[in-house]
Amino acid sequence: MHQKEIEQRRTFGIISHPDAGKTTLTEKLLLFGGAIQLAGTVKARKATRHATSDWMAIEKERGISVTTSVMKFHYRDFEINLLDTPGHQDFSEDTYRVLTAVDSAVMVIDGAKGVEPQTEKLMEICLLRNTPVITFINKLDRDVLSPLDLLADIEKKLQIECVPMSWPIGMGKSFRGVYNLYRKELQLFTPGAKTRSGEVFVIRDLDDPELDKRLGSQAAELREDIDLMEGAANPFVYEHFLKANQTPVFFGSAINNFGVRELLDAIVELAPSPRPRQATTREVLPSEEQFSGFAFKIQANMDTAHRDRIAFVRICSGKFTRGMKVRHNRLGKEVTLANATIFMAQDRASVEEAYPGDIIGIHNHGTIRIGDTFSEGEELKFTGIPNFAPEHFCRVRLKNPLKIKQLQKGLTQLSEEGIVQVFRPLTNNDYILGVVGVLQFDVTMARLFSEYSVEADYEPADYAAARWVTCADREKLAVFEKKYRNNLALDSEGNLIYLAMSEWRLSNTMEEWPDITMHKTMEHS
Ligand code: GDP
Repeated sequence: MHQKEIEQRRTFGIISHPDAGKTTLTEKLLLFGGAIQLAGTVKARKATRHATSDWMAIEKERGISVTTSVMKFHYRDFEINLLDTPGHQDFSEDTYRVLTAVDSAVMVIDGAKGVEPQTEKLMEICLLRNTPVITFINKLDRDVLSPLDLLADIEKKLQIECVPMSWPIGMGKSFRGVYNLYRKELQLFTPGAKTRSGEVFVIRDLDDPELDKRLGSQAAELREDIDLMEGAANPFVYEHFLKANQTPVFFGSAINNFGVRELLDAIVELAPSPRPRQATTREVLPSEEQFSGFAFKIQANMDTAHRDRIAFVRICSGKFTRGMKVRHNRLGKEVTLANATIFMAQDRASVEEAYPGDIIGIHNHGTIRIGDTFSEGEELKFTGIPNFAPEHFCRVRLKNPLKIKQLQKGLTQLSEEGIVQVFRPLTNNDYILGVVGVLQFDVTMARLFSEYSVEADYEPADYAAARWVTCADREKLAVFEKKYRNNLALDSEGNLIYLAMSEWRLSNTMEEWPDITMHKTMEHS
């Protein structure tokens, strides 16, 4: 039974650059899964979420964003958990961290634009973790780049081999559909059709006269394309996909619901079920009987007065049952998971049982930190839920110096929640904040005010990049520390971090000091 539950689960996230079509695709996936009935539901939410970058407005939307963080739906015999990767203004470390809780990712590329910066950043995290990625090239109903150029762009910028699973016939006004190379099926596109699947024809081989009947002169074009591509493309090798060395590629148009079913089929047929996870002592298999999981995201609840938090816990092994007792590893305490929540597309429902791959929400009053492990029996600590090197920095200006204690407390707690990273320079008493998405600065200030009664604002700090530094040779590290004292700080867990004024400076320093290891991520202690 347990094994079956595991095999039926797929937990994934969508990575994309803003406007590539993530929201549209999410909505279509949820429609297929019957999780929402009406098109426009997800869009409307996005509109309210992005109408303003004002934190207070976002605050009002929090209740909604909690439920949209995890979207659970069924497709065929599968239980699918789609985790939201916040983008646009709400891009933050959470966006990266969600990718530590998935087993695979779908990369959406705007066919007219190719690989864009945010996709590159998110793919870097996937590749770092060998997360398998399925690619969906979107907006074929528009004039896009040639499919071969798109594949070349992905291979060059993302260092991953592309294996087209389908091939588009025409584009923009002359877009006729896609030919599925593996199933040998022709799927025709009818502009504006609201049908979920479109017409599908099985083709015996590319010389099938049916092809000419359906496509006219574009049949010859397709044959030529496929000839060209087959000479150049690599065969699909499942193991290479699992190691993120290869990505299967689909073409379609999310807004027209075209190619979405194929993508969903690929998610259940190709993407892996919950995978083993590395803990400090050993690898933990999903099939193990005892429960284990880790917190990858913490969200303040609507009622800030109660400092109520929801910790999102990804289940790694065993079975969750309501009211079960587990060990909270960092605190060394037994806790009862009484009021866990499971997340649906539109509602939260209280959960009786859940399995590896599922995400449960645990209410707490600030005792849970990012990266905390919960386990039954054995003492475990999962690795791979790190902090990510920030890209934007500011210095906190406290308006009332008497509030320094509260400031300290607030910043400590907000950093434990993963809202912001706090650094203390070696040479002064400043509080330097670091984030990967700039909105987090406003979020931090607003929450310091509303939850800790601390009035503060921030000014830009002259840094552009950061790396944690370690070195096996203590003497060398001491020399480095002496030379770069003004650029070194400690993070909230006491790890040494180098703050560089520019990317250029950083790479220079790295070249000059080959024995000093510069880390882009840092595990929680
Ligand atoms: P997100 O920012 O990645 O979530 O992107 P959205 O899903 O909001 O889409 C951005 C814009 O692209 C919207 O105006 C969509 O209507 C449009 N869009 C999405 N998919 C398609 C598509 O397949 N074809 C065309 N022509 N437009 C699309």
